[in-house]
Order: sequence, then C-alpha cells, then structure tokens
Amino acid sequence: MSIKERLTIIVVISLLTILGLYGYIVKITLDIDSELTQIEKIEKFEENISQLGLITEYYLAEQEQRYENRILQLIEELEGQSAEIAQFSRFHVVGESIPSLRSAFGLVFAMNNEPELYPDSELREELLSRASIRIRSDVRQLKSISHSVATDHINNIKLLQVDQRLDFLFILVPAILALCLLAYFMKRRIILSLDKLQDGAGAFASGKLDARIDVGEGDEFGELAVQFNSMAEKLESLVQKEKTLNRKLEEQADKLRTSNEDLENFASVASHDLKEPLRMVRNFMGLLQQNYSDKLDDKANRYIHFAVDGAQRMTVLIDDLLEFSRIGRKYTEVEERDVGEIVNEVIKYYETTIASEEAVVRVGKMPVIPCVPMLLRRLFQNLIGNALKYHARDRVPEIEIEAEEKEDCWQFSVSDNGIGIEKEYKEEIFVLFKRLHSTEEYSGTGMGLAMCKKIVEQHGGRIWVESEVGKGSTFCFTIKK
Ligand code: ADP
Repeated sequence: MSIKERLTIIVVISLLTILGLYGYIVKITLDIDSELTQIEKIEKFEENISQLGLITEYYLAEQEQRYENRILQLIEELEGQSAEIAQFSRFHVVGESIPSLRSAFGLVFAMNNEPELYPDSELREELLSRASIRIRSDVRQLKSISHSVATDHINNIKLLQVDQRLDFLFILVPAILALCLLAYFMKRRIILSLDKLQDGAGAFASGKLDARIDVGEGDEFGELAVQFNSMAEKLESLVQKEKTLNRKLEEQADKLRTSNEDLENFASVASHDLKEPLRMVRNFMGLLQQNYSDKLDDKANRYIHFAVDGAQRMTVLIDDLLEFSRIGRKYTEVEERDVGEIVNEVIKYYETTIASEEAVVRVGKMPVIPCVPMLLRRLFQNLIGNALKYHARDRVPEIEIEAEEKEDCWQFSVSDNGIGIEKEYKEEIFVLFKRLHSTEEYSGTGMGLAMCKKIVEQHGGRIWVESEVGKGSTFCFTIKK
C-alpha cells in the first residue's frame, strides 16, 4: 500500500474518531441536560408538595377559609407539573393521587363551609378526621414518590457517567491505540526507508558506483529506490565507458607523442640531409659561374643561374616546411606580450624593403595579450611581408595595422593598397602551396598564408581576407581572449 493511501486511511480514521467522539459527547450532554431538567421540575414539585403539607396543617388546625384558595391553587399547579413530569418518567402514580387529594380537600372544605349539611356533629368530626388522615397520607406519598423519582434521575445521571467512561474505555481507547499503531508503523517504514535511501545515495555520491538501494516494493519509497537504482546503473555504465574512452585517448595521446617526436626527428634530419646536397649544388654552381663564366656561352650561364635559383628556392621551401610542421608542436609557450612590440620588431625586420619601396606603415593602438610570441611574430611577418610584396607598381605602398577589442576576442587587421585578390580565391589562398602568381612575377613558396591560418587557429581564432582587385586587401584575424 502506498504512503499516500496509508496517510489517507489514518486521516479518515482520525476524522471519523473525532466526529464519533463529538457526536457521543453531544448525545451524553443532551441526556444529562434532560435528566437535570427533570430533576429541576421534580424539585419544584417537591417544594409545592411541602408547601401544600404546611398549609394543610395550618388549615386543619385553624380551619380558616383564607387557606382554601391557596390550597386549590397549589393542587392546580401540582396537577400541571405532574402532567409535565409524567411525560418523561414513571410519574403517572402521582397523576392518579392528585384527583383523590383534590376530592378529599373538597370534602373537608364542604364540611367546614356548609356545616348545616352535616347536622350530626359526631359524624362530621369523624369524617373530617378521616379526610385529614387521607390528605396527610396522600401528601406524604406524593413527597416520597417525587423524591424516589428524583433519586431515579440522579441515578440515571450517574449511570450515564459510568456508561460514558466505559464507552471511552472500549471504543475510544482501541481507536486511539489503532491510530497510534498505524502511525508508529508508518513512521518506522518512513524512517527506515529514508535511512536506506540516505545511505545508498551517500555511498554512491562518495564514489561507490555499485551502491544500490533496497527498501522493498509497494509504496513511493520502493518506486524512488527503483528509479535511483536505474539511474545509478546508467551512471555506472557511463562512467565505465568514459574510463575506457579515457584509457584509449591516453593510449592514442602516447602514440601521437611518440609519432610527433619521430616526425620532429625525421623533419630535422630530412631538412639537414636535403639542405646539404643543395648547399653543394649552390656552391659548385657558384664556383662554376665564378671561374668559367667567360668560357661558357650565355645559354650555359643562364642554365647555371636557373640551377642556383632553384637550389635557393628549394632551401627556402625546406625551411618553410620545417617551420610549418613545427607550429603547434614545438612553439606552445603562451606569454603575456605587447602586440605593438612584436609588430615593431617585424617592421624593423623589413626596414630595408620599406625604405626601398618608400612604403608608409601606420600602426594603431595594440593590446597586451596572452599569445605564443614566436608564432604571432611569424604571423605579422607573413602578412606585412605579403602587403609589401604584392604592392601595386603605380603607387607608394601604404600599410595599416589595427586592433579592435570584441566581446570574446581581439580582432587584428593588416590592410594594404596593393594589387588585391580576386573574389574566387578568397578561401583558396589559405591552402598550402596555393599561389596566384608565378615565381617570375612574385617570389614565394605558397606557404605563408597556410602558416598564418595554422597559427591563428592555434590561438583559437580565424583568419579571412576582404579585397578588391586593383585597390588593395585587408587581412583580418582574431585571437581568443
Ligand atoms: P606566397 O606569398 O609565398 O606566394 P602566400 O601563402 O603568402 O604565399 O600567399 C598565397 C597567395 O595569396 C599569393 O601567391 C598571392 O597571390 C596572394 N596574396 C597573399 N597576400 C596578398 C596581398 N597582400 N595582396 C595580394 N595578393 C596576396
């Protein structure tokens, strides 16, 4: 049975007990009230009887007429009272005695008031004496009956009180006991179940994931325990899955670390081994040009120039590739740095080009931000380098570097008034080795912007370009705060 149903039963039993008790008390009170009213009436009746007895004695002694009216009046009152009392109790005996009293008085009054009707004085005295005796005996009888009836009513009250006590003992006490028992068992069930729930939940919270609750079935606690157990089961399996996943992740991270180290070794060995023969080609070609240029024809000299240039570009390509592979692996130390300082270092790096191109470089207010300084320098170096490289031939290069604070990031921009980029290449230029011009037109490896993208993404940001062919380009990127 559910706790709600049990509670409802207890409340209903309590209400019924209270209602029954109230009804019972009302009934007993009404019964006692009616008994008390009867007793009051009988007491008044007794008073009148006593008065009648007294006046009768006076009358019989003095035989004065002034008492007669009072006697008749009292008999009338007694008649009325006895009729009322007889409705409730065994009082009809009294009702029967009063007419005989009235007729005895009638005889006495007649003998006293009309003595001529009784010429024989001896007989009259005799009759008067008998009537007096009868009156006195009737009065006494009435007194004793009314007294006994009053006693009956008093006994009734006592009986009612005894009944009341017994009823309390046999009806109310068991009802209260039953209620107490019900309440006790319910409290026990609630407290025991709560204890078990608390223990189970506490054990689970402290990390014992196999902790389950058993409080039996059939009520809300049972349902709660079932739900808790199913939740605990799901959580346990989730935690198990997470542990397995973490283990796999750790294994993969280990593998990745090892393969990164291998890659790093491979890259540096490869770059060293590749650059060595290139240096030799460059050196020997240089020597060939130096010592034999006058003996070789123009065509052979041009070939030598191509070979030296190719070897040089190959060296730059290898350096760029090595650097590209190191972003996010080798340079990871984050520091608070003034971006203005980094930008100035880059401007200093391009000092000669800026001077030769008579370029104008304007730098706005730069913030201090947490970043990998080495990478941020490389980022500005590529963007400012491109702005200088891809300038329009017919005008002085103007470069503007700005920073703007956004809600969750800093937004930087490098704008130029150079040759601009066609709309369709806005995305492609960030792909590794993507170039829009030949090496003859503009030197380069096609790795600069791909490197920029990688650096920005490592700083939790994004990079894009806004450009118009023939007017210039603005490269924007964000760095997460
Ligand atoms: P690289 O400069 O070595 O060719 P990048 O990755 O830096 O390689 O640039 C890719 C291509 O994007 C360039 O070949 C060039 O055509 C274009 N580009 C980059 N920067 C600019 C710029 N500021 N103005 C015009 N074109 C640009």
